[in-house]
Amino acid sequence: MITPVLPTYNRAPMAFVKGEGSWLTAEDGKRYLDLGAGIAVNALGHANPDLVATLTEQAGKLWHVSNLYRIPEQEKLAEALVAKTFADTVFFTNSGTEAAELAIKMARKYHYDKGHPERIEILTFEGAFHGRSTGAIAAAASEKMVKGFGPLMPGFRQLKWPQNASDHDALRAAITDQTCAVLIEPVQGEGGIRIVPDQCLKGLRDLCDSTGTLLIFDEVQCGMGRSGKLFAHEWSGITPDIMMVAKGIGGGFPLGAVLATEDAASGMVAGTHGSTYGGNPLACAVGAKVVEIISDDAFLSEVNRKAALFRQGLESLVASHPTIFEAVRGEGLILGLKCKANNTDIVKAGYAAGLLTVPAADNVIRLLPALNIPDDDIAEALHRLDTAAKAVESHA
Ligand SMILES: *Cc1c(COP(=O)(O)O)cnc(C)c1O
Repeated sequence: MITPVLPTYNRAPMAFVKGEGSWLTAEDGKRYLDLGAGIAVNALGHANPDLVATLTEQAGKLWHVSNLYRIPEQEKLAEALVAKTFADTVFFTNSGTEAAELAIKMARKYHYDKGHPERIEILTFEGAFHGRSTGAIAAAASEKMVKGFGPLMPGFRQLKWPQNASDHDALRAAITDQTCAVLIEPVQGEGGIRIVPDQCLKGLRDLCDSTGTLLIFDEVQCGMGRSGKLFAHEWSGITPDIMMVAKGIGGGFPLGAVLATEDAASGMVAGTHGSTYGGNPLACAVGAKVVEIISDDAFLSEVNRKAALFRQGLESLVASHPTIFEAVRGEGLILGLKCKANNTDIVKAGYAAGLLTVPAADNVIRLLPALNIPDDDIAEALHRLDTAAKAVESHA
């Protein structure tokens, strides 16, 4: 039967009424330790005092004016991102999907303006997730997302996920004179916390350079400090031409961005793209605060210290539950447990134990805590994961 809310989600039955740091309180008063952070969105925890102060101050001044006018909060956030990254310029969106749409348009317009309108094909990878618009589902082309929604937007081709140097030859062969760009998540989130090895990212950069292909990174999930660097690609030492950002950058307020080099963005002149809400003062005031906090070196070294602590605990958890878990995946605080038992059974056992985790493809459960999760909460999370694993063992 249809419900007032369109039933497109498989929802867990809990509803939350209050959040504080890494904790959520449900309607029935039960407290849950949150290792999902709204799917990597609440990067600084729930009801972060700095963000609440920034949001309420801006809310009392100005929410929205439209991009008909200069928006100083947007300029401030763009300047901060340009100062901290490879990028020369930034466009603001409200979501990751909208960032994907612009990344696709920007890459095609680049070649069109350089006299190569035939260069329209964007190479993507199996297991990818770039959002749910018609363009973004065509890009990732996973069967469950595209079935029944055809005709799909043409101009995408999915390649095998690059795991070792030998895949480099396949990538080289895939680039033709119609190739526009390569679009990849440095760490796949929905696909099951799969890291592209640094060597493969470097190889991709070389291939793109030698063929004039644009390299686009989707850091919507793995970016904004989650990997232990401000952006995950920084571990590899190479940079993209275009990058999509969203989720963590708003700390819970809807905000996305496309970052680009001056050259890659050269086709996007006045009138070629726009958004009513994108880059509104409220979102950008919050985003600027999030970027200020997360891009601080001391904050990022704390993320790495916490990540090492958590990971060590997870490795012993896997060792003590060999029929439930197989391995720990990921880097920084974008972590996954590859499961032997059914991942959704473990997620559900977690709910019973007062713990929120997020399932992903490849039978993985995702652990995406707030980046400032206290050490005590990490210890408590490990304890509750152990409780959940024991519960699944006892039902086997
Ligand atoms: C979540 C996500 C998106 C889509 O973002 P929305 O804000 O849901 O539109 C795109 N790419 C990646 C890697 C994501 O994790």
